[in-house]
Amino acid sequence: GSVIGILGGGQLGRMLSVAAARLGYKTAIFEPGSDCPASHVANFHMRAEYEDEAALRNFAESVDVITYEFENVPTSALDILDLLCPIRPGREALRISQDRIIEKDFLSGLGLQVAPYRAVNSENDLRVAVDEIGAPAILKTCRFGYDGKGQARLSSPDDIAQAWAIMKGAPSVMEGFVSFSHEVSVIAARGLDGSVAAFDPGENVHEGGILRRTTVPATLTATERADSVLLAANILNALDYVGVLGVELFVTRQGLIVNEIAPRVHNSGHWTQQGCAVDQFEQHIRAITGWPLGDGTRHADVMMENLIGDDVTRLPDLAKEQGVAIHLYGKADVKPGRKMGHVNRITG
Ligand code: ATP
Ligand code: MG
Ligand code: MG
Repeated sequence: GSVIGILGGGQLGRMLSVAAARLGYKTAIFEPGSDCPASHVANFHMRAEYEDEAALRNFAESVDVITYEFENVPTSALDILDLLCPIRPGREALRISQDRIIEKDFLSGLGLQVAPYRAVNSENDLRVAVDEIGAPAILKTCRFGYDGKGQARLSSPDDIAQAWAIMKGAPSVMEGFVSFSHEVSVIAARGLDGSVAAFDPGENVHEGGILRRTTVPATLTATERADSVLLAANILNALDYVGVLGVELFVTRQGLIVNEIAPRVHNSGHWTQQGCAVDQFEQHIRAITGWPLGDGTRHADVMMENLIGDDVTRLPDLAKEQGVAIHLYGKADVKPGRKMGHVNRITG
């Protein structure tokens, strides 16, 4: 049988491995850290750094297709892997999603709405950007941000010096603050044959920059629901994408505004594990191995809630609840802000 290589050993890699096993595949994880969530369930764990060229070559030669669970795979590593094994989704999706400015340029080039933005590489750039776009605004590092890390909010021009200091000199982007009524995301997939399928959009609530919960069905008009799916398909086709993609959207009176895209399975798609015959993890494995896309029709109302840090102390009570499926990531240390697991509650 074939072996699927997964770059990254977190919970997304873990759940991809489980899905791959259900379809009869073996998985190999490439991850520098030991005792990572994915290594507990995968068949092989290559524990090496992304700078280790021999390890990368060895890994690529021992698997049939390579995918990833995080978008910040170093380009130098991709250059090596690329020569030996197909990488799906392809490198263009990574190149674009690794930099917030390239991503926003790409999205606006497709005719999609994004927040007003300016590149910021100095305090003076930020002053000009606030002058042009106005406050409130959000300053974000262009690269490596997740869970709201590497971000500073500006409520007025008085916050400029403090906000720029938080970026520590890193290339950044300032975005106008979008006054949205709520946030939704579309998890969509594209197969090797170019066919596209989208899961029903989910409604997301963030706390402190971290996803707290996703609810389906989302509050959307029929037009907004159709638009969200069409724009996801637009992005997938433009990238000649293979695999699952997450698209985060702001719902506003001016229509849907794209916040960001993630070229991978997405936290806001975890509800599909209990809400669909084929969940986002199986859909991704199907896509990258050339299977037909599966049936992702939603058959239940679901609320997914992340278990973050101390939330795991609620487990004994959650375990007794009706209609609740518990997913734990096998992380030994509880830390504030750390995603320890999630629950899917069937609500209808
Ligand atoms: P993720 O873990 O989703 O990758 P991230 O660190 O990349 O998070 P963003 O998605 O850019 O961060 O922002 C996190 C949250 O902050 C958003 O979901 C939204 O609630 C809020 N936010 C970000 N940008 C804006 C904006 N321009 N206007 C209003 N709110 C915003
Ligand atoms: Mg992000
Ligand atoms: Mg986000």
